[in-house]
Amino acid sequence: MASDADVIVVGAGLAGLVATYELTRAGRSVLLVEQENADNLGGQAHWSLGGLFLVDSPEQRRLGVRDSYELALRDWNNSAAFDRPEADYWPRRWARAYVEFAAGEKRSYLRGLGMRFMPFVGWAERGGGTATSHGNSVPRFHFGWGTGPEIVRVFAERVLRAERAGLVRIRYRHRVDELLVSDGAAYGVRGGVLEPSAERRGVASSRNVVGEFEYHAQAVVVTSGGIGGDHELVRRNWPSWLGRAPEHMLTGVPAHVDGRMLDIGERAGASVVNRDRMWHYTEGITNWDPVWPGHGIRILPGPSSMWLDATGERLPAPYFPGFDNMGTLRHILGTGHDYSWFLLDQSILAKEFALSGSEQNPDLTDKSPRKLLSRVRKGAPGPVEAFKRHGVDFVVRDNLRDLVDGMNELTGESLLDFGAVRDRVAARDAEMSRPYGKDMQASAIRTARRFISDRAIRVATPHGLLDSGNGPLVAVRLRPLTRKTLGGLETNLDSQVMRPDGSAFDGLYAAGEVAGFGGGGVHGYNALEGTFLGGCVFSGRNAGRAIARDLG
Ligand SMILES: Cc1cc2nc3c(=O)[nH]c(=O)nc-3n(C[C@H](O)[C@H](O)[C@H](O)COP(=O)(O)OP(=O)(O)OC[C@H]3O[C@@H](n4cnc5c(N)ncnc54)[C@H](O)[C@@H]3O)c2cc1C
Repeated sequence: MASDADVIVVGAGLAGLVATYELTRAGRSVLLVEQENADNLGGQAHWSLGGLFLVDSPEQRRLGVRDSYELALRDWNNSAAFDRPEADYWPRRWARAYVEFAAGEKRSYLRGLGMRFMPFVGWAERGGGTATSHGNSVPRFHFGWGTGPEIVRVFAERVLRAERAGLVRIRYRHRVDELLVSDGAAYGVRGGVLEPSAERRGVASSRNVVGEFEYHAQAVVVTSGGIGGDHELVRRNWPSWLGRAPEHMLTGVPAHVDGRMLDIGERAGASVVNRDRMWHYTEGITNWDPVWPGHGIRILPGPSSMWLDATGERLPAPYFPGFDNMGTLRHILGTGHDYSWFLLDQSILAKEFALSGSEQNPDLTDKSPRKLLSRVRKGAPGPVEAFKRHGVDFVVRDNLRDLVDGMNELTGESLLDFGAVRDRVAARDAEMSRPYGKDMQASAIRTARRFISDRAIRVATPHGLLDSGNGPLVAVRLRPLTRKTLGGLETNLDSQVMRPDGSAFDGLYAAGEVAGFGGGGVHGYNALEGTFLGGCVFSGRNAGRAIARDLG
């Protein structure tokens, strides 16, 4: 059977680009099949903040953070909480290998390709409240200078160079509908050619089929992303331990994150595991300037906002902003309402609100030191102010009574009682005014401010929300926001897909989000953040290198 290339890669997101880069480095020819147009090269990674989980890095050391492989692995395993003897067999091995990569070669590999990192380090997922529960014991969220577009660039440029050299052919608007298998081995793909689309990046494109295709190769790598763009699929696989699925969710990923390849892989004989593990956020806000359907943006919160449920009850410890994503989501859904509230003031908004997404951080994305400097000046970053002005989820008022009225007006539910909210805010403020106390959020804020990065750019000076001079008051309605898929195609450490009987699938590989970022679920139940782009890099690299090694 004539081959169209040595290897077919399905999906030109980050994982597909990394696998293609590694294959071409080894002199292998690649046919890259992508359902969207050329403007979408890089997939979700383009939109990402470019946050990367690194362990014991020079950036951490310079800031006085003492980290180690052992500590990071312990944090990872405590967060992952692997508990499935079979479905977690490969994920456990991937976790160890990935943390090793993050503590070792990850930084130098990316730097070698031209990536640079910001000198400050973020502290995401601060945890479940004890040393042995979920969360990062120390700050590990590194910012790539240039955010998502930069991590795409360092691979895409090399892939496009290989295309010009004739080693790569890219077929845009080609959607794979079937994996071809003969004698137990994958040998190609079949699908439909979608009508041309001139839509700009991220905009949902037409699904009208105008032709058919079939391509053959010695190996196929599936790098098609997760399921977060299809709410129906998200609801169908909703984790039972999270309770009911929300009725109303925002969408944190473009529509191409459609999850179709999981069923297509399963039909071809692949093992799909941990389908019910996902990583959706609690702090979603409606994008006032949407690109894709239902477009929501995630607030990356500092720790000081007061978090109230829909009825005005304060969320219990440790469900503070930026601590325990999944625990908080479960708690919120348990209230019987899909949404919750951040209550804060202008000075917290200015210092602590960041928005996830490359387009929401033009200073970092454009690699502009001048724009970056404006972060340390007074006032909120431009994109945050724009949300405050135009966002439908924001209520801004000069006093608490008007704020609570505005919140009730926004939802039309009148669930908030002014007196009860006032008492909770006053109690919180009293704790903030003391150097010590029993309020765990106040203690966490004080701890955070001992870390220089947090003190400088991330955590506001503790103060009362009702103190004068920090206003106006701000309330933000938060909704669940779909994002990452933590389960998927089960793979061994070579990113080779497994069959349900535990044997390796000849010729079939998978990497990135469709493979649960490695193994079918390297994160287990919880992520430490900044681990997804790196998971695409690591699993895409493993796939490319293993195939290049094993092909005849
Ligand atoms: C706003 C945002 C911010 C983020 N921030 C961070 C961050 O700071 N740090 C971090 O670690 N992660 C972050 N992430 C997550 C990370 O970007 C993604 O998990 C990662 O980029 C997924 O890459 P992928 O290659 O696996 O899949 P994708 O990027 O989804 O690419 C898959 C590609 O496959 C194509 N495809 C799918 N099915 C088919 C088919 N049947 N035929 C042909 N083509 C197909 C799709 O069109 C797409 O181009 C963020 C994500 C978003 C959206």
